Amino acid sequence: MLLNLLGCREIINDLQGYYLSSLSHIIIINISLYLNRMKKIVFIVGGAGYIGSHMAKHAVLAGYDVVVLDNLSTGHKDAVKYGKFELCDIKDKTKLDALFKKYQPDAVMHFSAYSIVSESVVDPYKYYDNNVSGTLNLLKTMLDNHCNNVIFSSTAAVFGNPEYVPIDEEHIKKPINPYGRSKLMVEQILEDFSQAYNLKYLVFRYFNAAGHDVDGELSERHDPETHLLPLIMQAARGNRKNIAIFGTDYDTKDGTCIRDYIHVDDLCVAHLSGLNVFFNEGKEVHSNNFNLGNGSGFSVKEVISKVKELTNKDFTVVERERRSGDPAVLIASNIKASKILNFTPNKSKIEDIIKSLI
Ligand code: UDP
Repeated sequence: MLLNLLGCREIINDLQGYYLSSLSHIIIINISLYLNRMKKIVFIVGGAGYIGSHMAKHAVLAGYDVVVLDNLSTGHKDAVKYGKFELCDIKDKTKLDALFKKYQPDAVMHFSAYSIVSESVVDPYKYYDNNVSGTLNLLKTMLDNHCNNVIFSSTAAVFGNPEYVPIDEEHIKKPINPYGRSKLMVEQILEDFSQAYNLKYLVFRYFNAAGHDVDGELSERHDPETHLLPLIMQAARGNRKNIAIFGTDYDTKDGTCIRDYIHVDDLCVAHLSGLNVFFNEGKEVHSNNFNLGNGSGFSVKEVISKVKELTNKDFTVVERERRSGDPAVLIASNIKASKILNFTPNKSKIEDIIKSLI
């Protein structure tokens, strides 16, 4: 069992070969087959993207058999360094159905969504079509194929402008853009499906996912890049001429927006706890939602000056108008995740997150 948990299929195979000539070979082969059958199969949908590719690595290293499904519309094939890859769009029911029949996954992790707020405002169809219709298609295919466990990537954007911080799970959900609404719609669909069809789900609402894999194998590659930390790093490396601060007149300590940055590896570890809920724990935990953040916030100016300090590089900072749809402060309460999932971020300091990017 230990070998299986560590994902050491090769060791199991070696043992199998070594004992082949001995009288005990039948027992060993049977144990090996049993262990292999016990290995859970997880579909990572959107696994060629930033968070999904990190998740595939964590899941493989934790001993899961991973299959990455991605249509490569925003992801990168060369980001799939762990698990098998299948080119598939979540709107393609025929292809999805064939893949569920081929692999018979035990659980699905669903990262496959468009996520640029400003784009969602000018092209809401794209967001509802992929994020909502595509997800409905995926969920229906899961149910048709008796796969009842799903972890859904949601967002702090479901809350809209917060009425208080830190934001807990009970906070009113009033998204202020189509992206946030598309995610909230799926959260509601999951709740209804769990009541009606016994679907087991976990919703993880990410605050500001940031940082890279510590081994430097994986990275964040959005095109266009809109996120603060990767853009500041481009400026620090001399790959862009300046970094813009969007809004300096917010009601915050230095007038710039405050965000709760959480390392992508910490997010992935929370997802592994989620799988554990499906496979090893009691009924009361699943079909639940969790906010994932560090519980502390940093202003745009603070993040810029931390990057300057840690990289020892100076670069030009320009002040611009507010970006539409940006709430002044987003900070998560992670108390529920900590109590129920034992969620304790390892890289909770902004320094740790920035260092992983250097
Ligand atoms: N931001 C900024 N300059 C940039 C990119 C982002 O000032 O070039 C600000 C943005 O307005 C927000 C914060 O940085 O207040 C975090 O933005 P990001 O896009 O990284 O994540 P979001 O909070 O929108 O999910």
